Amino acid sequence: MLPTARLILACLLLTLSLIPARAQDSLDIIFQPAPRPMPTAVMIESGARLELYFSSLKQGGLGLLRLAGDGIEDPRLDFLGRERRFFQVEDDAWYALLIVDMNASPGLRQLTVRADRGLEEISFARDIRVDSGRFILQEFELPANRAYLVNPAIEAAEFARLDEITSESGPKPLWDAGGFGLPLESETTSPFGAFRVLNDGVKTRHTGWDQRASSATPVHAMASGKVAFAAPLEIRGDAVVIDHGVGVYTLYAHLSQSNVTPGETVDAGQIIGLSGNSGRSTGPHLHWELIVAGHWLDGLEIVALWLPS
Ligand SMILES: [Zn+2]
Repeated sequence: MLPTARLILACLLLTLSLIPARAQDSLDIIFQPAPRPMPTAVMIESGARLELYFSSLKQGGLGLLRLAGDGIEDPRLDFLGRERRFFQVEDDAWYALLIVDMNASPGLRQLTVRADRGLEEISFARDIRVDSGRFILQEFELPANRAYLVNPAIEAAEFARLDEITSESGPKPLWDAGGFGLPLESETTSPFGAFRVLNDGVKTRHTGWDQRASSATPVHAMASGKVAFAAPLEIRGDAVVIDHGVGVYTLYAHLSQSNVTPGETVDAGQIIGLSGNSGRSTGPHLHWELIVAGHWLDGLEIVALWLPS
């Protein structure tokens, strides 16, 4: 090493040693929104750019679309026989969640996206692969005092009620830049979409995820939003439903206590209640669900998804 270089290095080390060390607990943690990832596919039509943020989708899964271009109005998509509107965020691009019902048949399905620009219509078409959700089969025996809840009519009535509760969402996302996180830190015990056989061979589906939680464990809002429902349901027991905007809802079930009231705004991570064993449950745990536009979806996918805000 040259003498000059050695001198510079010595000075640098001396300078560094003079900077007082900061105590560990005084470090400021800076939360920054994750940058938008690279799209997995890009399509260009008449100067408009459609970006896909997934390569394939599975039954019960969801993906993100982004549409950018000058003067685009009223973009909408058609997929699996359903039309959905895009929503707009600050950077003036349009976004939409592409969702796959858990009962959709695997295979190639056509996605069509249309938008207006003045008198012109811009249109995109692409085949999207829908993969199997590889759902497992589980058998459960409800205790005698709750066996009456193994009743398809009670279940159908509850789904109808939840369809109403989850149909009031506004046109803007209510989640913040952090997106969605898990409602509590513990292992998952039963997966979304499982085929279930209950008492007397009654068949049903698992519409959410279960996580291990002893009674009275704090349950956190998965994202910011507005409380749409907080009351007892027959099957889901004491439940809280949060509206995250653009048709996206999360539901927290079998609670022993809820800490929120309908209409209240909640922050991501806020404690909204305590876990429990109410409703059609065989022991204390947290069951939570993701509902988008009336479809029950795999909530772990929205936790993993980058979302605009
Ligand atoms: Zn469950």
